[in-house]
Amino acid sequence: VNLRSFEQAQLVGSPFIATNEKNMGGLPDRTDDPTEEIIDDLVSGRLPGVLILDPIKAGVVAAETAIKVHPIRKGKSGVPDEQGCIDMAYNCNGCGNCQRNCPNDLDLVEGVRLAKEGDFSVLSDLFDYCLGCARCEVDCMKEVSPLTLLMHAGRERIRNETFNVRVGRGPIQDTEIRNVGAPIVLGEIPGIVAIIGCASYGKEIQELYKMAEEFLIRNYIVVVSGCAAMDIGLVKDDEGKTLYDRYPGDFDRGGLVNVGSCVANPHITGAACKVANIFARRPLRGNFEEIADYILNRVGAVGVAWGAMSQKAASIAAGANGLGIPAVVGPHAAEYRRMFIGRSDDDDTWKVFNARDGTPDQLVGPAPEHLLTTAESIEQAICLVAKLAIRPADNSKGRMIKLSHWIDLERKYKGIDLPNDLEKYIRVEADIPINMKEEVHEYLKQKNWQPRDIVDPTLLKRLCRT
Ligand code: SF4
Ligand code: SF4
Repeated sequence: VNLRSFEQAQLVGSPFIATNEKNMGGLPDRTDDPTEEIIDDLVSGRLPGVLILDPIKAGVVAAETAIKVHPIRKGKSGVPDEQGCIDMAYNCNGCGNCQRNCPNDLDLVEGVRLAKEGDFSVLSDLFDYCLGCARCEVDCMKEVSPLTLLMHAGRERIRNETFNVRVGRGPIQDTEIRNVGAPIVLGEIPGIVAIIGCASYGKEIQELYKMAEEFLIRNYIVVVSGCAAMDIGLVKDDEGKTLYDRYPGDFDRGGLVNVGSCVANPHITGAACKVANIFARRPLRGNFEEIADYILNRVGAVGVAWGAMSQKAASIAAGANGLGIPAVVGPHAAEYRRMFIGRSDDDDTWKVFNARDGTPDQLVGPAPEHLLTTAESIEQAICLVAKLAIRPADNSKGRMIKLSHWIDLERKYKGIDLPNDLEKYIRVEADIPINMKEEVHEYLKQKNWQPRDIVDPTLLKRLCRT
């Protein structure tokens, strides 16, 4: 809950409607009053805000008030004009509290110092790297808001920020799942890459774009939501096209699917559940364990939460883990102190039943190697995503496709010949990518590699057919 929402709304002359009893802001409870009366009070300014605990009524009041108040508050801004910003900067004593609080350690002290002289160039350079978190304001004893000064410095960019984003489409249709279920489970569509989280600033927006483009080119299905969906729309290629202009919105190979806001993320995990339900007829209701077993062993879906790591993104990633979907998170995520790292050196942790005949202790790992892990750079994240999309149930054609992308990405971004644990992912001769046969054979010989059976993997004994 942002406890400053009401204060911020007042700064820009926006009526405020509190709808949550945990954050009522001392506002009068108008839940039982007639809708028209509430709207009149808000639009006229008689009341700066109200509490409405009936969500339907709050929605009606919000929509109608917004339309009526628009011409009145048009042009109002919470950011002072140039002289107002200079005056604010003049209060700064250079103590550095703001910079110490800033998660990106932006050079605010120098930026504010120059702003006193009307020079906003440093703050303008910092604008793209600001997360908008407002931590810099909290401990300023001189009532300076470096964030406000940054907004002033970046005002032209804010004004001119236009871009295309594909409309959030909600759930993946059952018909789409029917078309792609088999190639996903067999590994012939190399994976589903779900990019979530808040990139929030320039460098990381470029990184998300790079990741999405890399996997789209390779015919993965890329699913995006929330800020990530908007952020990748900000980047254009040399022809002025965004990824949305270049790739279709179907849930199919090479498709870029925007499911909607970040609360639409369950549509992504929902798609994986639907594969288990529609393609393998696993019942959905009360059947969490079998669904997760199916996804973990067969559906090459991987989540990526990049950028400013909110608690929400961290919990979405952990929620995906519970359904058998691994997630790669950015360096900011380390602060949440939660990882699920696999022990690829311990064969005992990678044994499953072969559902065909109930044989236990079948080594299938390490795939997926981790459930929740961090990457320090986008290059490392891209390689990890390709690796984590590998699943025990891949058929040889699918495994070959996945391995060839993984190896290719490791070569491109890490400059190595072959990953140093490649032998663990090759079960039989036919898994080896055709165009790399010779060198992989040589590598396997050095590692004393032995073929092993491709099984029908499950962690649940009751799912074995005999
Ligand atoms: S915390 Fe306030 S007074 Fe201290 S350097 Fe930052 S803006 Fe200036
Ligand atoms: S709002 Fe921007 S400048 Fe202020 S602390 Fe957050 S990231 Fe740093």
